[in-house]
Amino acid sequence: MAQLWRGVIREYMEYLPFAEGDPIITLGEGGTPLVPADAISRRVGADVWLKVEGANPTGSFKDRGMTAAISKVVAEGSTTVVCASTGNTSASAAAYAAKAGLRCAVVLPQGKIAAGKMAQAVVHGAILLAVDGNFDDCLNIVRALADSYPVSLVNSVNPFRLQGQKTAAFEICDELGDAPDIHVLPVGNAGNISAYWMGYREYAERGPATRTPRMWGVQAEGAAPFVKGEPIKNPETVATAIRIGNPASWDLAVAARDESGGWIRAVSDTQILAAQAMIAAEVGVFVEPASAASVAGLLAAAEAGDVPKGARITCTVTGNGLKDTETALAGRVLDPTVIPVDIAAAADALGLS
Ligand SMILES: *Cc1c(COP(=O)(O)O)cnc(C)c1O
Repeated sequence: MAQLWRGVIREYMEYLPFAEGDPIITLGEGGTPLVPADAISRRVGADVWLKVEGANPTGSFKDRGMTAAISKVVAEGSTTVVCASTGNTSASAAAYAAKAGLRCAVVLPQGKIAAGKMAQAVVHGAILLAVDGNFDDCLNIVRALADSYPVSLVNSVNPFRLQGQKTAAFEICDELGDAPDIHVLPVGNAGNISAYWMGYREYAERGPATRTPRMWGVQAEGAAPFVKGEPIKNPETVATAIRIGNPASWDLAVAARDESGGWIRAVSDTQILAAQAMIAAEVGVFVEPASAASVAGLLAAAEAGDVPKGARITCTVTGNGLKDTETALAGRVLDPTVIPVDIAAAADALGLS
C-alpha cells in the first residue's frame, strides 16, 4: 500500500525540535514535486531540476515553516499570531491559524500584495492592516508588537520557521540520493537560503547525504542588498515576494553563501519575467515572478560561463503563479478566437482543414 505523506513535521521529526505527543498543526505541506527541467538543462548544459514549492497547501514554501511555527504557538498556549508579509507569509499564517483556531493579524505594505495572496488572507479570516510603507517597515511594526503585547510573531525571525523550511533540502537529497552540486533560489528576507543551508549541512553531518551543494542566491536588481553589501532604502521589483531592502536573516544568508562556496547575484525584472514565461511554456510549471528569479539567475550564470558542465543543479521555484495572474498576463493578448458551435469552424480556426 502507498505510504501517505504526513506533513513535514511527522516525516522528519528526528531532525526537528518536536516529539511524539506534541500538538502538530499541519495541512499536509511538503512532499512537493522535484521536476526534471529538460528545457533549462539544454540551455545551461547541466542537469537541472525544479523543486516546485507552489504545490504546497497555500501555494508557497512558507507552509513548511508555518506548520512548525504555528504548532509551537499552540504548544505555548498563545491565541494570536502576527506577521508582516509581502503576501505569502500572510496567506500561510492565515491558513494554519485557521486550522489551529487562532486569531491571525497580518501587516502588509499597502498596494504591493498580489491579488491572489490578498484573497487567501481574507478567506482564511485574517485581520488585515495595510501600512503606507514597505515590507521592512511592516516587519519593524510586528516585531515591536510581539515585544510589547501578548501576540506570537510567525515571520522567519521565528526560529521554528527555518526549522520547518530546511525539510525541503532533505526531500531533495532523499529523492536524488545525495545533495546536488549547486542549489539556486531567490533571496528576499533570506530565511529560505539559510534554512536550505541548515538542512543540507545537517543531512551531510548525520549521514543521509555525503556532501553539501554550493548555494547560489538570486535577488532582483532593484532589491539586491546582498549584492550591494548593505541594506537598501526603497526596494522595487515586479517580484513582490522578494521586494525587501533589509533582510532579517542577513548573517545566516552570508554564512550560507560563503561556507558553501556560493554567491548571491542580481537579475533584472525583464530577466525574471522572461524566465517565468519560459518555465511555464517549456517546463509546464507556472510560478510567480519571485520564484522565476532562481531560474533567471541560473540562465545568467550560464551566459557568463559560470555553470559547470553536467553539474546537477536544483532550483527552488518558491510560489505558485496563480497567486499573481495580473503580472503573468500583462502585455499578452487574452481574447480567444470566437467561433460558432460548429466542428468545421473549430477545425478551420486550428488550421486543421
Ligand atoms: C517568501 C518568498 C521568497 C523569499 O524567501 P526569503 O526566505 O524571504 O528569502 C521568494 N519567493 C516567494 C514566492 C516567497 O513567498
